[in-house]
Amino acid sequence: MPVPVSAPSFQSVTQPIEQRYRQYAQKAAQWTKQYEARGGKVYCGAGCFHCCDMPIRLSLAEALIVAQALDPAAATRVAAHAHKVQANARSAPDEESYVERHRQEVGFCPLLDRASGSCTQYAARPTRCRDTFSAFPARYCAAGAWEQMTPHERRDYQREVARTPGTDGEVHFIAPLEHLSEPVWITASKSMRQHWRMEVWGDFWNLTTLAADPQFMQAVERGQGRAAWQRASTLNLSHPVTLEIEEV
Ligand code: SF4
Repeated sequence: MPVPVSAPSFQSVTQPIEQRYRQYAQKAAQWTKQYEARGGKVYCGAGCFHCCDMPIRLSLAEALIVAQALDPAAATRVAAHAHKVQANARSAPDEESYVERHRQEVGFCPLLDRASGSCTQYAARPTRCRDTFSAFPARYCAAGAWEQMTPHERRDYQREVARTPGTDGEVHFIAPLEHLSEPVWITASKSMRQHWRMEVWGDFWNLTTLAADPQFMQAVERGQGRAAWQRASTLNLSHPVTLEIEEV
């Protein structure tokens, strides 16, 4: 029997992750409070969406949480986006071009409301959307920001990043807020191993589309990695860059 996205058996996979999301939110808020008390500044806020055109990697367990939250219209938009991601994966000559083309051509996440700049699935959004914070103004997060800088501006940027607490010294994102999400990744890995005897990782929109496919999920629930890959291939959603299946 094919497995619907809302099947009760999936709750045991997703619940531990949702608990980690809540713990992350508390720890991140605590860390940010201390950071700001020391004079640090986090520039991210409501209405800012400059990073929502970046490729996003996640686990199938997290994709399931998003798939369960989508209405049919949103699911259709995500599936269309997944096929654009696939086309990019097939034609990009290397990782750098893949990321650049994703931002320039595949474009913004279909779950973004461009009019308000808000995420329409804020409660279900994956880890990467939760743990990415900028220590610099939004213009530095926009696609092409580095490419458009003059050599002088690049030197200034590098100097500023190096002297800004909270960055890793190379880019303007806040490293400790990213590190704090480590338990979510570990929990996703453990949860998939325990319930599916496999780990499935990949592109956000690709996996969200696959998570809503009963035949794909049936193969996953049975721990049948090859059958899952074949189903993804039938749907034109299998590529090593966007889908990794490892039986354990
Ligand atoms: S899920 Fe939300 S926060 Fe994440 S990329 Fe899409 S619109 Fe942005």
